[in-house]
Amino acid sequence: MSCNRHKIHFLRELIPSFECVPGCHDCCGPVTTSAEEMARLPRKTPAEQEVALEHLNCVHLGPDGCTVYEERPMICRLFGTTPRMACPRGRGPEQPIDPAAEHLVHSYIASTRQVLV
Ligand code: SF4
Ligand code: SF4
Repeated sequence: MSCNRHKIHFLRELIPSFECVPGCHDCCGPVTTSAEEMARLPRKTPAEQEVALEHLNCVHLGPDGCTVYEERPMICRLFGTTPRMACPRGRGPEQPIDPAAEHLVHSYIASTRQVLV
């Protein structure tokens, strides 16, 4: 396992999960991610990306929500787990993410070259 791969796995495990409102995708939109995470996502054509961007959508948002849920970027995982990125529908884990863990996730994002998903 490469260093980055290990780190991504480690950080993902630190982010608590919770149940979203079924079918909701209110917090989805154009997001960025690291090249390592991007490599795990299916490739989209420039035309598909352009259409998504025109509508301020994420290119991986389908009619039933996120189509890449298991591999969604770190920022998507963090959303709703911290008061600093609160879910507008009031959902979230029983316990928000530990502030130290949140800091680690943000540090990872800040330290990697981010590309538009
Ligand atoms: S975190 Fe909240 S706004 Fe985002 S998809 Fe889940 S329920 Fe909807
Ligand atoms: S990757 Fe999935 S969760 Fe993240 S913005 Fe796109 S559709 Fe939403």
